[in-house]
Amino acid sequence: MLKRDASPCAESPHTEAATDVLIVGGGVCGTALLFTLARYTDLAHITLVERYAQLAQVNSKATSNSQTIHCGDIETNYTLEKALRVKRTAEMIGRYGDLLDPGRRDRCVFRTPKMVLAVGPGECELLRQRFQLFSPHFPAMELLEKQQIAEWEPQVALVDGVLRPEELLAIGIRLSPTAVDYEALSESFVALANDAVAGLDRAVDVRLSTSVIQIEPEGDHYLVELAAAGEGPPTRLRARHVVVNAGAHSLLLAQKMGYGLEYSCLPVAGSFYFTPDLLHGKVYTVQNDKLPFAALHGDPDVRSPGKTRFGPTALLLPLLERYRPASFWEFLRVLRLDGAVLAVLWQLFGDADIRAYILRNLLFEVPWLRRRLFLADARKIVPALQLDDLRFAEGYGGVRPQLIDRQTRRLMLGEVSIPASPGLSFNVTPSPGGTCCLGNAERDALAIRDHLGCQFDHARLVRELVGEDVPSSLAPRSA
Ligand SMILES: Cc1cc2nc3c(=O)[nH]c(=O)nc-3n(C[C@H](O)[C@H](O)[C@H](O)COP(=O)(O)OP(=O)(O)OC[C@H]3O[C@@H](n4cnc5c(N)ncnc54)[C@H](O)[C@@H]3O)c2cc1C
Repeated sequence: MLKRDASPCAESPHTEAATDVLIVGGGVCGTALLFTLARYTDLAHITLVERYAQLAQVNSKATSNSQTIHCGDIETNYTLEKALRVKRTAEMIGRYGDLLDPGRRDRCVFRTPKMVLAVGPGECELLRQRFQLFSPHFPAMELLEKQQIAEWEPQVALVDGVLRPEELLAIGIRLSPTAVDYEALSESFVALANDAVAGLDRAVDVRLSTSVIQIEPEGDHYLVELAAAGEGPPTRLRARHVVVNAGAHSLLLAQKMGYGLEYSCLPVAGSFYFTPDLLHGKVYTVQNDKLPFAALHGDPDVRSPGKTRFGPTALLLPLLERYRPASFWEFLRVLRLDGAVLAVLWQLFGDADIRAYILRNLLFEVPWLRRRLFLADARKIVPALQLDDLRFAEGYGGVRPQLIDRQTRRLMLGEVSIPASPGLSFNVTPSPGGTCCLGNAERDALAIRDHLGCQFDHARLVRELVGEDVPSSLAPRSA
């Protein structure tokens, strides 16, 4: 690791020597890019700055998200086209796990059964059609009738040992990498990045407790102002290429520079509930197409053995970071409330389903009421669930930074990468941002190769993480 220059000048920030690539944000997306650049390129100096004292303490924290690898097989809101796109990048995580030593791998990636459950004739018919369409592309899919569901997940299909009365059908996948501790994964990315440069004339420089205050273009470089917690005045770092992976704060930093003004951010928090150990694997429900947030599900929590976690709820919350009230002011800056944003909110509230969903999710946060209301929803998965079994998971759940496209007046469903100028981009990653971390890192590494002209052994990445022989078009380019 490079040593920081420790002589900041009081009047004007001291400028450090250049780094090749600066990554802003030490969540799963920032660290995945660090790993990718360290392992597959020949860049001499890569820096990552994270404003907290530990990696992955915001949305990638193990308690903030649903810990799922979204492959597209049980996400009923994905079209086949989207599912196939997501599948490639989702499978990169499982293959990455094979690069880890078994002890570390077992703390990062988990293999469990998973299913999507249909309840009632309408949902069952939809799932049957989906199975026809998807199973040729996802050969591990199995169509499960009620009795088979009872064999996989007794609590889902049985009440007092008898099959529950409603029509049930499920698509199941027996055993595959399904769950991830995205926090442990982030730590592993940094460890492998350090391994990749060990003994070489290259450096990976990870700076915790360091915030990026501002980014300014300077010739063909960027001057980045950094503030290290408790270390006096800001310093400046010169970077040849900057990728901002700071979650919702990516938009804040972009807009500060005049980029991404076509977007507003609508933060949607998700809460969770614990029950005793009820499920063997992940059980998702059929998604309401109108809702851009993942459907309710239940699954074993990878950090809390013996407990099942249900959720997430979806609460519009005026904060960019769930448990940091001061982020209200940052929220106001990226909301950029005007006619376009009001039009989107009006559209959302104009739809009876969405209105009911938003209001119901608001009530999920009211202490006495929330367990009672949530119980009714969770019983779709475990019909015999009792109120006493259910406990609000205090301190769990992050905020998904859903973006509003102000030009088309639309709430956007997925992530956005804002390519600001050559050598500068901002990634905003709501769900399934954890799943896509390596895919996005591959995309950003290709852009960095093209901009800086470095070596990028894309063939090795594709071989190791995608498991394919490399098409000639992907063969590495010389610098
Ligand atoms: C309820 C919920 C459930 C979810 N479930 C899933 C799921 O099951 N599967 C899935 O794939 N995805 C899921 N997601 C989404 C997933 O958690 C995120 O997409 C992913 O964690 C984003 O990673 P990131 O690195 O981009 O952002 P983050 O993990 O938020 O990291 C951003 C980092 O940037 C740092 N930062 C911010 N500003 C600055 C600055 N100025 N200077 C320096 N550092 C800065 C922050 O401190 C933070 O560490 C879920 C999200 C939520 C909220």
